[in-house]
Amino acid sequence: MSALHPGYFTEGLDADPELAAAIRGEIARQQDGIELIASENLVSRLVLEAQGSVLTNKTVEGPAYGRYYGGAEFADAVEALALERAKRLFGCRFANVQPHSGSNANAGVFFGLLGLGDAILSMDVAAGGHISHGHPATLTGRDYRIVRYGVSRATELVELDELHDLALAERPRMIVAGGSAYARALDFSALRGIADEVGAYLMVDMAHVAGLVATGLYPHPFPHAHVVTTTTYKSLRGARGGLILWNDEALSRGIDGGVFPGVQGSVMLHAVAGKAACLGEALRPEFRAYNEAVLENARALAARLAGHGLRIVSGGTDCGLMLVDLAAQGVTGDVAAKALERAGLAVNKNQIPFDPRPPEAPSGLRLSSNAGTARGFGTGEFEAVADWIADIVSAPGDDALIAATRATVREMCARFPIYA
Ligand SMILES: *Cc1c(COP(=O)(O)O)cnc(C)c1O
Repeated sequence: MSALHPGYFTEGLDADPELAAAIRGEIARQQDGIELIASENLVSRLVLEAQGSVLTNKTVEGPAYGRYYGGAEFADAVEALALERAKRLFGCRFANVQPHSGSNANAGVFFGLLGLGDAILSMDVAAGGHISHGHPATLTGRDYRIVRYGVSRATELVELDELHDLALAERPRMIVAGGSAYARALDFSALRGIADEVGAYLMVDMAHVAGLVATGLYPHPFPHAHVVTTTTYKSLRGARGGLILWNDEALSRGIDGGVFPGVQGSVMLHAVAGKAACLGEALRPEFRAYNEAVLENARALAARLAGHGLRIVSGGTDCGLMLVDLAAQGVTGDVAAKALERAGLAVNKNQIPFDPRPPEAPSGLRLSSNAGTARGFGTGEFEAVADWIADIVSAPGDDALIAATRATVREMCARFPIYA
């Protein structure tokens, strides 16, 4: 017998067949296809349960143990766990786990540490940067003076002497390192040297490499960076949202205040619980093995694609992602991505550095081994993926080839169930 109000609905998803059908469709899509989009991953049941928990009912504002509303003892416990794990995982003194997204983490740092109109030196989106680092279409692009650096045409790498010259000429208040389509290691120590020379903060946005950083497989931004931001749902394989890390207590007021009330209101506690869950998983030894496989699989994928004559931008990768230039294949990224999607291979079109083509029909594709590795793919599976990609980009209009590949992809996926 229920004492609940009759207008309080207690049914589950079955009570909403339209929504249930869409969600079941998404489960099937994830199960039956291969996810190669770098901003995605497959979370554990633990993360799903934490994010789907009753913490969504609780509203809190402000820091753990300093909330504006009462009844926050368990909210505080959840957030304290996430904070403690984040600091332990990345070896730093301070963290903020409240940003609703990676973009909010960045906006909060900018708002908290910079003044209106201050200059930010960040990577051009066309060279692999992220829009939240000051793209003109965003608030950050409007509120700060954005100066762009790119990669060298010859090496397709960030060249420190060019960045140094730009920093001396523009005197930014902040230098932002890291992007969403840059696959190579960065020299954080040298970047800090440049930042110190011009009196700038160094912020590292490690969204695509956080898991590798946590497990010692990619250069660590600390102790060099003043501030580090990341998303928690890409290489960290966890809850949707963002995270900020730093070491200098003098920055705490600015950063915490930049997030709340600077750019956000109350905390998404269910997402914070999901972050606590994934950070706990990332502290386990198995997470290192996962990241070793991410790297090994990415290198196998890149090498096999190159063997088929596809050009890997900058000649390779130091993380889970890579950019592929399709110019020699005579196909654009949008056409290739659509054909690959029909074959069950989810990828995104992407501009390559100095792309002569527009973002809607660019020269390249971005690929990642994150999600495939999470479901158990090894180098053999990724080499098969490379073979399918090579076949399809050379014949994107071949319906028979696409249908045959779709069937083979489905078979392989059946051997790697994502939620048993
Ligand atoms: C994905 C990404 C973000 C933004 O994440 P959202 O959660 O979509 O706001 C920020 N920075 C980098 C480098 C990213 O790759």
